[in-house]
Formats: sequence, C-alpha cells, structure tokens
Amino acid sequence: MADRPLLYLDVDGPLNPYHAKPERRPRGYETHRMLPPSWIARHRDIPVRRVKPLRVWLNPSHGRMLVELSAHFELWWATTWEHDANTHIAPVLGLPELPVVEWRSPGCTGPEGTFWKTAELVEHAAGRPFAWVDDDITTPDRRFVAAWHATPTLLRFVHPAAGLVEEDFTALASWASTLRP
Ligand SMILES: [Mg+2]
Repeated sequence: MADRPLLYLDVDGPLNPYHAKPERRPRGYETHRMLPPSWIARHRDIPVRRVKPLRVWLNPSHGRMLVELSAHFELWWATTWEHDANTHIAPVLGLPELPVVEWRSPGCTGPEGTFWKTAELVEHAAGRPFAWVDDDITTPDRRFVAAWHATPTLLRFVHPAAGLVEEDFTALASWASTLRP
C-alpha cells in the first residue's frame, strides 16, 4: 500500500530505554552488548579491541507490535544507528530489514530551536503523513512540523527511561486509522 503513512523509529529511547536505572533493567527487556561500527567510530581515539561494547536493552514484544503496526505504516529507521539498526536491532526484535533515513547533519543544531532530526525528517517525508517516535521531541519540533508540513503528523515523545509502552502502539494504530477514508 503506497498510501500508508510513514513511521519514523528512533532506537535509543523508544526501543532501548537507556535512561532507566543501570542496576535495574526495565521489565520485559533483555540485555545485549553490541559493537556496531557506528559505536566503534565514536571511539576513534582508542584501539577497537578496547572499545567497550554498548549495553542495549531490547524488548522482544516490541518486534511483534511493530510488525503489527506495519499493516498501517511504512516503517523507517530514523536513528543514529542508521544501517546498523538493520544488522544489530532488527534481527533481535524479529523485524525485517527496514529502509533507513540517512542523516546529512547528525548532532548539529536544527533550525528554530529544533532537534537536529526534525527538519531532515520533514524534508524526507516530502509531504506524506508521518508519525515519529523519539525521546528528543519537544515543543519547537512540534511547532516546526506544524508550520512546515501540510499533511497530518503524529510526534510521539517516548521517555528514555520507559521505552515504548502499550499506549504508544495503541495511539499510533488509532492515529493511522483516522487517515483512512
Ligand atoms: Mg533517541
């Protein structure tokens, strides 16, 4: 279905609740230690063998729920993991390979006080309705998207200590259902 809205998925925050207390893994999550190339690249100053693997918490039920959402959405990775999300995150969650938003200016400051992803996603969506789950969505992002994107959007803030919860999936599915004629 070419007319499905896009769903932009962040990894750290929504899928990996990195901000939860380190000694207390959130319920339902499993611990993974990963060395994706993007993580190694952030430690250029030390030898690869000394780079400490990244601790990633993932919840297997997220995979199933995202697969269900793909009936309503075209899923895209919108994360600094970029293609590493397909090699490291998707297989663990049982997701197929997903298309990847490739950032132009990751980590830079966005226009009008926005998070750096925001303007790039508006451009990427090219007028198509989209939902976006991220732990970095704030008021300037909502304002910017409302001003620069004419079709419906759902910007869903996800707390990085909690990750995606049942209500997020329900909200996404019901928003998508409002778009259908
Ligand atoms: Mg994040």
